[in-house]
Amino acid sequence: MNYKDLADLIFPNAKEIAYYEEKYPERNLPEGAVVTRFAPSPTGFVHVGGLYQALVARTVAKKTEGVFFLRVEDTDQKREVENGVTGIVNSLKDFDMAPDEGMVTEIDEIGNYGPYKQSSRKEIYEAYAKYLIEQGKAYPCFASSEELEEMRAKQEAAKIRPGYYGVWAKYRNLPVDEAIEKIKNGEDYIIRFRSPGREDRKIKHKDVIKGNVDFPENDQDIVIIKADGLPTYHFAHAVDDHLMRTTHIIRSDEWLSSVPLHLQLFQELGFKVPKYAHISPIMKNDNGNKRKLSKRKDPEAAVSYYKEEGIPTDAVKEYLLNIANSTFENWRRANPDKNIEEFDFQLNKMSVSGALFDMVKLLDIGKTVISKMTAEQVYAKSLEWAKEYDEELATLFENNKEYSLKILGIERGNAKPRKDISKWHDLKNAIIYMYDNEFLNREIQYDYAKVSRKEEIVKILNLYKEKYFHIADDKQTWFDKIKDLAEEVGFAREVKEYKKEPEKWPGHVGDISTVLRVALTGRQNTPDMYEIMQVLGKDSVIARLEKAIQNEGK
Ligand code: GLU
Repeated sequence: MNYKDLADLIFPNAKEIAYYEEKYPERNLPEGAVVTRFAPSPTGFVHVGGLYQALVARTVAKKTEGVFFLRVEDTDQKREVENGVTGIVNSLKDFDMAPDEGMVTEIDEIGNYGPYKQSSRKEIYEAYAKYLIEQGKAYPCFASSEELEEMRAKQEAAKIRPGYYGVWAKYRNLPVDEAIEKIKNGEDYIIRFRSPGREDRKIKHKDVIKGNVDFPENDQDIVIIKADGLPTYHFAHAVDDHLMRTTHIIRSDEWLSSVPLHLQLFQELGFKVPKYAHISPIMKNDNGNKRKLSKRKDPEAAVSYYKEEGIPTDAVKEYLLNIANSTFENWRRANPDKNIEEFDFQLNKMSVSGALFDMVKLLDIGKTVISKMTAEQVYAKSLEWAKEYDEELATLFENNKEYSLKILGIERGNAKPRKDISKWHDLKNAIIYMYDNEFLNREIQYDYAKVSRKEEIVKILNLYKEKYFHIADDKQTWFDKIKDLAEEVGFAREVKEYKKEPEKWPGHVGDISTVLRVALTGRQNTPDMYEIMQVLGKDSVIARLEKAIQNEGK
């Protein structure tokens, strides 16, 4: 009896690996094209760190006219949730990052290198496990969980390195005949890799991001096929990324320490070794301590958070590129209107240590991104968001489309566009007062700032209503009239004059503007008053002034 007999007994129906090598040939791509993937487990949760990895992987593939694919790693069936694939597919779609190949729904996929879901690739893993067994590079291990537990306890007591290796690898040298007999007797087993490594030898690895790293060789006989017949991550990684012809493994740096094992697996399987790029996690400043963004503690760790808040996806992507390459910020400054796809992203320029997540900066980018949109774009995108998360806003928009477009057009499309909205969640509050129904029929808390005497407020408002307000005035005329009004009630016409001799007046033209602004909107800060009044129209302005006057009479 030899290895071949053992392999045939374990995997009688497995195909020759030549079949798969031929079925999934080298990709026919332009010189220098990079093939990358995003390979999440379908746990139903996409971490912003996962999105970050996917964005980096996709950007590099696009830049080189390569391929970016989505592979679902569902070999740990305990961790699976229903519709976990859909969640991932939709998140990528939401961010306009759909893959070139891979899963496109819970069950459908596109591309010639599939199946792209690991649980559908069982026969492929079996073929490669069989191949290893035939060569004596893998073997069945019959250790029971009690046996393994006992081994671990002994190692711990003796303070030696834990694991299944060297003298501890009990079934590594079991004669083939005995193994065959045990299998025929129906004993349970799993398949282990027979590692050729030695712990006292070093390997050198050059990571695209981390640079040169030295490790001891792997000497662990790790499990490659589990009791449920599915592969472990390590084995599936080697088989899949080889057959899918991935050129660059871009993944989280929690896997960096597995590189010696992975290099060994590629070598023993006779595969060409891909390049590795290990990405540092996104960190958070937690009261002065740097820690990983945590799924449990930080709502912003979930990609769904950005959608719920209505932070534009372009802003999130731009922010992530910002932390990915420190040169991005300068590029953006020099090219304020370019699409982020035009940025010359460099994988090897990513930072070796984890970047700090900065929500303030992200929201600031959100403001800029929204400020560059047209009123129509803001309307369409925020309505889409509102339909899911803010029914009141959605109804308001749908019932008043033309008027809403006018509101959204205020201070937009000019050289210095309005920059006060960072996410759709803020939009309603920023414009709600423009709707008469929401303003005239509600109780408003008027705070006129510097001007606080009732009679003075009423006088200013009445004068404006009766004498100075004329909806057809152009901006200059309108502004001059407010100065006239200021003068008439004894305030300084110009702020500059007032500042020179503040004791001379009770206030200046700006204070008068504030009174009008508060009366018309209920706010002390709003976009340009003239534009607001033009959008409100004559009747609304009059009605609002009357409401404010009446309020002071109460
Ligand atoms: N399924 C693995 C994970 O989610 C993939 C790691 C990789 O990209 O290779 O961590």
